[in-house]
Amino acid sequence: MKLTVVGCSGSFPSAESACSSYLVEADGFRLLLDMGNGALGELQRHCGLYDLDAIFLSHLHADHCIDMCAYFVARYYRHDGGRCDPIPVYGPEGTEHRLTTAYADTPTASSMSEVFDFHTVKPSTFEVGPFTVHTERVAHPVEAYAIRVEHAGRSLTYSGDTGVSEALTELARDTDLFLCEAAFTHGKENIPDLHLNGREAGETATRAGARRLLLTHIPPWTDPQVNLTDARAVYSGPVELATPRRSYEI
Ligand SMILES: [Zn+2]
Ligand SMILES: [Zn+2]
Repeated sequence: MKLTVVGCSGSFPSAESACSSYLVEADGFRLLLDMGNGALGELQRHCGLYDLDAIFLSHLHADHCIDMCAYFVARYYRHDGGRCDPIPVYGPEGTEHRLTTAYADTPTASSMSEVFDFHTVKPSTFEVGPFTVHTERVAHPVEAYAIRVEHAGRSLTYSGDTGVSEALTELARDTDLFLCEAAFTHGKENIPDLHLNGREAGETATRAGARRLLLTHIPPWTDPQVNLTDARAVYSGPVELATPRRSYEI
């Protein structure tokens, strides 16, 4: 399994990175986790516009899904006059309505579903191409999911956006790579059920027995080195900051 960080900036894009978007590949299958602001442009560095096989949206905050509006245009109004076949899009309840209204005030009811095959995510286990996927509801102001992707005995767990969450700890149990958000700074921001800080991400990784930790979703106004140091203080495994355009073998 290969993970490529398409974008990892938290809440809004930085000069260096688009918002959340992660490409997971195995057996020639491409699953994209989230498509935040700027992700569609960055994605084209890593694969062709029409090479995605499935998309998972952790939740419907703009920094995780808004480039789906641009991707709709690319799939619906192909310059060769054709229209792309629908690809599976897994998202929380109301994903189609949210994206449709974000795209236009008066959308045609069916247009998005002509190029996206929407599936409503619940806490469950299902197959996506060659992957076995587990989803769990996490602690965020809107319906939000973390996802564990498994392939050939290896696993990646992505937190999405969450505060401290027992469900996330269980989902990340013994995972090979834990891609965990650390949007807040320990001792500075403390709002329950919104985001983790570096220390809480490290503590979650330790409790879960995760083998490797990648901190992500750090906003441009937050010092990533502080969050990295805070995570290292409580997690003894390898930990680093997610880096845009970098790939990780799992
Ligand atoms: Zn976010
Ligand atoms: Zn969010």
